Amino acid sequence: MTSTAEIIAAARAAGRGAGAFNVIGIEHAEAIVAGAEKAGADVVLQVSENCVAYHGALAPIGRAVLAAAGAATVPTAAHLDHATSADLIYEAVELGFGSVMYDGSALPYSDNVRETARIVAWCHDRGICVEAELGEIGGKNGVHAAGARTDPGEAADFVCATDVDLLAVAVGSSHGMATRDAVLDLDLVRRIRTAVPVPLVLHGSSGVPDVALHAAVRAGLTKINIATQLNKAFTSAVRDYLTGDDAVTDPRRYLVAGREAVASEVARLLGVLRAGAGSRE
Ligand SMILES: [Zn+2]
Repeated sequence: MTSTAEIIAAARAAGRGAGAFNVIGIEHAEAIVAGAEKAGADVVLQVSENCVAYHGALAPIGRAVLAAAGAATVPTAAHLDHATSADLIYEAVELGFGSVMYDGSALPYSDNVRETARIVAWCHDRGICVEAELGEIGGKNGVHAAGARTDPGEAADFVCATDVDLLAVAVGSSHGMATRDAVLDLDLVRRIRTAVPVPLVLHGSSGVPDVALHAAVRAGLTKINIATQLNKAFTSAVRDYLTGDDAVTDPRRYLVAGREAVASEVARLLGVLRAGAGSRE
């Protein structure tokens, strides 16, 4: 297995985006690895706190993700996404995850700084890379609502105060978008990149069209988190299969269709994130 830090550092040095895809079940993990192998690209497998809640525990899905990452023929990392619980972070690190996102964005700013710094110190003692994010800057619907914006000065202060390795920024995307029409503030991306020394992370990237993803990477975003886009592909393929065969009983028949659709979309998106490598503005 490769660490997220290595994958992000290589992507940043080459001026390309690093794809980080969210796992739901083991089929997603298999599909994301297959897609990355098809594309010949590094990849990050992410398990979110919401995914852990869905399974009722981290260990079964976490071990499956670690095994899939370990068996991949391309550099593959396992990352814990959007953890609000410190205990979940400790458990993920003990299982073997090489990076975590601590999400203190719902806390008041000073509490977010204090908690993030505490988790970063604990993780750095163990060689673990930490992603974090600022609070709800621009919108009351959360930091990744379309109207939310990260302030470059506050972002710089936050990184300095917490020693975090990766910073999630709010620049126009929002979580869970089913349409790909988000408009990113690329000038703000450039200003944050100038103000902040660490690689930047885009959440809610499923709502961003291909051409804008490419532009976002050129403007200075490195880790590109994608979840909904894969779920759209998975569900659509399963729905098509079931619509065409209402006598099917074996889940493997339609899960294969979903898994293949996710693998194709991962390979395609990794191509988009690599296009124009080295052409960073
Ligand atoms: Zn997110």
